[in-house]
Amino acid sequence: MHLRKTALLIMTFYATFAMSQTKIIAHRGYWDTKGSAQNSITALLKADSLGIYGSEFDVRVSKDSVLVINHDPGIWGHNVAHTSAKVLTSLKLKNKEPLPTLIDYFEAARPLSTKLILELKELESQEMESYAIEKILELVKEYQYEDRIEFISFSLHAIKEMVQKAPDIPTYYLKGELSPQELKEIGCTGPDYHYNVFLKNPNWIRECHELGLKVNTWTVNKEKEMKQLIELGVDFMTTDKPSLLRDLLEKTP
Ligand code: MG
Repeated sequence: MHLRKTALLIMTFYATFAMSQTKIIAHRGYWDTKGSAQNSITALLKADSLGIYGSEFDVRVSKDSVLVINHDPGIWGHNVAHTSAKVLTSLKLKNKEPLPTLIDYFEAARPLSTKLILELKELESQEMESYAIEKILELVKEYQYEDRIEFISFSLHAIKEMVQKAPDIPTYYLKGELSPQELKEIGCTGPDYHYNVFLKNPNWIRECHELGLKVNTWTVNKEKEMKQLIELGVDFMTTDKPSLLRDLLEKTP
């Protein structure tokens, strides 16, 4: 009886430990709240104010080679890659804030503690992606953000180049088709895959951990999937509902 009780206590301890390990990343910042907008400075500040692990944002390159923050290839009818930074930064986001550059984002992040989860979007050419990585790494060095930044991308070219040029910065691949072993061979930190990939291949999370990889997953907005993925032991969860996930993790016994 005593042994069973002890075993139960140990199991509870490990279950609690495993669950409390899932860290929250706000997808495009904490935008789904009053006064905020996707990829805005406000969304970064609000993510930080939740005390969560990280705030994700999307990086593209303007026609005149300036790194700007925007998810889609275009905004309000302007194609980012074919528009100057002057025009782009004169455009307003949905919360009336101007479209930020990466420098604006890095400046705003100075007093914050949330990690900067930088997604480099797939750009028009590999050369453009290589240029963006070079500029990003210059800025990371200038701002001394080496320990505050993580890098994610759907572009395998970008991932491989980041791993090669900045092996100490965590790097996660987004597309979902590579196995844990293949990711290990590339040398990245791990997968950041759509949650359906993990629900179809739940063993991948364990395999990643056995290989020393970390696991992030996107974009998990419903309690049911949040609970499933916490139980599967993901290290990070990227969500449009960071306060919901935070409450859920706090309630989890
Ligand atoms: Mg993104």
